[in-house]
Amino acid sequence: MKVNYIVVGSGIAGSVLARRLADEKNQQVLVVEKRNYLGGYCYDYRDENGILIQKHGPHIFRTESEKVWRFLSRFTEWEDYQHKVLTNVNGHYYPMPINLDTVNQFLGTSYTAETVDDYFASNRTNPTEINCVKDVIESQIGPEFYHAFFEKYTEKQWGLSCEQLPPEIVARVPIRKNRDDRYFTHRYQALPKDGYTRMIQNILDHLNIHILLNTDYQDIKDSIECDHIYYSGSIDEYYNYCYGKLPYRSVTFQFETYPIEQYQPVSVVNYPNNYDYTRITEFKHFYRKKTANTVIAKEIPGSDGDPSYPIPTNENKELYNKYAAIPNEKVTFIGRLGEYKYYSIGQIVESLLKGDLPY
Ligand SMILES: Cc1cc2nc3c(=O)[nH]c(=O)nc-3n(C[C@H](O)[C@H](O)[C@H](O)COP(=O)(O)OP(=O)(O)OC[C@H]3O[C@@H](n4cnc5c(N)ncnc54)[C@H](O)[C@@H]3O)c2cc1C
Repeated sequence: MKVNYIVVGSGIAGSVLARRLADEKNQQVLVVEKRNYLGGYCYDYRDENGILIQKHGPHIFRTESEKVWRFLSRFTEWEDYQHKVLTNVNGHYYPMPINLDTVNQFLGTSYTAETVDDYFASNRTNPTEINCVKDVIESQIGPEFYHAFFEKYTEKQWGLSCEQLPPEIVARVPIRKNRDDRYFTHRYQALPKDGYTRMIQNILDHLNIHILLNTDYQDIKDSIECDHIYYSGSIDEYYNYCYGKLPYRSVTFQFETYPIEQYQPVSVVNYPNNYDYTRITEFKHFYRKKTANTVIAKEIPGSDGDPSYPIPTNENKELYNKYAAIPNEKVTFIGRLGEYKYYSIGQIVESLLKGDLPY
């Protein structure tokens, strides 16, 4: 069998790329997906109550790019949604990221937008060198907020203490001087009206696109010829781990159904200090669904299982660069696993809409 292109993976990366090839090159594209469903990490499905469940955890679409928004809007209508996250510390809920209310409620103070910086200015540490995650965070927000909100969460997430974790793991800790309690403030923030899977089905719905589910690329690579491959699976797996395995953190989800209308006040609550899980997602909040039951997922980080988060240490980036440097004109690696990079959905689409298709 011969096709023009093979796209490995039907996540957002593979799907957008396949659609561009089908639209712009007008040639035959075969999408090969090892799972029995489309959508990769964005996969969602309706349960018996009609609640849309996101199998791989909460996915909130956001972007600053009008181009990305317009492109995806060809394939879905949108549900307005502004994501809000609370953090449960000592049994109380606090807005996340830290804003004026978080500070005042946690400390029992009455700082204003003008004075809240005084707290951080007099409490942040000033280490001579930033050697670990603890240094990064304490030097921005001070020990009190670090211990209550970040230390244990980060340790659960990465499986190492904050003194052992290299500084590049975490970015700037956002602190809002106002009372804005939205998690994201992007120009476009929404959820696909009928879910991500439906949006991805629509992206792939094209006469030039053919789909093989339940098929690992390794099993068909010798039986199908093509001109070029776009590969959104793991780059180290593609090369048979010849330089060793790229490390990932994985997350598993423990789903629970309760015969109650609502389990928690918002879709996501973080639990930094208690339990093995980092956060609980209650799915019905996303689409404001009214049902007698509710479904939640407890998110438990680990190191075995599906590769979820690339671990962005310098050492791992060097290992990735060795794989990426292997000369290979036949294959372009794309997406989270192909590029070993944490990407949001918006960032992936933006990167794949840029410029002309090289092959
Ligand atoms: C817990 C969690 C929460 C997240 N939350 C958000 C969020 O709120 N908002 C947001 O924008 N982003 C979020 N993300 C990021 C988002 O999931 C990714 O950016 C995006 O889904 C990655 O798309 P992808 O196509 O690169 O990879 P994937 O979705 O992983 O797709 C890769 C596909 O390739 C298939 N595949 C791999 N190897 C093979 C093979 N050998 N043969 C055939 N098929 C193969 C896989 O089965 C998979 O379907 C989150 C990520 C995680 C881990």
